[in-house]
Amino acid sequence: MAGDVAGEVAELLQTMIRNACVNDGSPESGHEERNARVLRDLLQGRGMDIELYEPLPGRTSLVARLEGRDRSAPTLALLGHTDVVPANPDDWRHDPFGGEIIDGEVWGRGAVDMLNLTASMAVAMRHVADEGFHPEGDVLFIGVADEEALGSQGAGWLAEHAADDVHADYVVTEAGGFPMAGSEGIRLPVLTGEKGAFWCTITVRGTAGHGSQPLRTDNALVKAAEVVRRLAEHRTPADIHEAWRRFVAGIGLPEEIAGPLLDPDRIEEFCVTFPSLGLARQAHACTHTTLAPTVMHAGSKVNVIPDRVDLQVDIRTLPGWDLARVEAMLHDALGDLSDDAEITWHATDTATTSPADTPLWHALERVSQVSYPGASCVPFLTVGATDARFYRRSGAVAYGFGLFSEQLSFEQYAAMFHGPDERVDVASLGLSAQLWDGLVRESLR
Ligand SMILES: [Zn+2]
Repeated sequence: MAGDVAGEVAELLQTMIRNACVNDGSPESGHEERNARVLRDLLQGRGMDIELYEPLPGRTSLVARLEGRDRSAPTLALLGHTDVVPANPDDWRHDPFGGEIIDGEVWGRGAVDMLNLTASMAVAMRHVADEGFHPEGDVLFIGVADEEALGSQGAGWLAEHAADDVHADYVVTEAGGFPMAGSEGIRLPVLTGEKGAFWCTITVRGTAGHGSQPLRTDNALVKAAEVVRRLAEHRTPADIHEAWRRFVAGIGLPEEIAGPLLDPDRIEEFCVTFPSLGLARQAHACTHTTLAPTVMHAGSKVNVIPDRVDLQVDIRTLPGWDLARVEAMLHDALGDLSDDAEITWHATDTATTSPADTPLWHALERVSQVSYPGASCVPFLTVGATDARFYRRSGAVAYGFGLFSEQLSFEQYAAMFHGPDERVDVASLGLSAQLWDGLVRESLR
């Protein structure tokens, strides 16, 4: 790629950060039209077909198509979201929506999640189109709204209402690609799957009574406290699945860590006692279906025994868990309190995975050699949700990937997702742009 590509991506990223497309989960937030317009201005008039979609006023997504030479070749989509989560300026060292460059880093909400990748994808697409290059199959750049609130006004909406326009055989979105130094060279994690999200309200019932005579009353709050205790104590079995096994083996951890991390009988104890909280939580979540009580509403007045408690629980499942299995787990956890607990489901999204070792996998590995000679890819399961799941459900191979420099550690990056002081070094932006530029030129057959 010619010229100062990293600088170009940085400038676009600054603009997108300053546009502050903050998605607070309400349908009228986000205003991604601002970033969609910036992307359209960057990409139009360069031989790509560009379409805008607006399921609700202001919730705009953009699809740019660069036509391929061969109709029968697979279609590749570079999928980036344009919204960001809220940021509280009090917790930050610099303005979260200032988009300033300080000591070679672009600061602001979205700098790693994932305006950095969205901007680098767009700049790479423009360069390729400007050259008049036509890839083997069609290549799409899709800038979507609403990723941060489960995609119902973005990728989920497009999958349902514009399926032909956004169809792709291979998809790359966030995140992955943080270089990890293993004993046999650099390893680049590719997110090949993500856990399922099952969200529910457990309603615990009792009988109302006077607070002045509590003995032998049927107090829903007291029962709910026991429900919370049982949920918090419940343990699911460890699953040392293929992606986890390959990841741990690939990053070259010392045997005293890798050993327990790959042993279903020892991993739980290891995670409970290992001093690094970040690694312990991550390793546990990657290998277990987890449940976390998160919200409780109860009671109406200080002198009334409550007859109802609503408790919300966030359950994240490994591949292979369906609703029936989750319900059986809750039944098991609640024991004899199951009869007093009524479950209402708000989300029942199962985990999704794509196989490793596909043509896209090999193409990413080849193209990454420019930045990291000798590096190889390792699969990784993300514990959060991304827009990749819509594509995996439609049968596409979808990965999370990008490239980062070695300036910041994986732990530092991980803490910045939805956290304070989010920033990215300009060098990383150049590496990602170079990655997409190379990927578009690869054959995916
Ligand atoms: Zn994201």
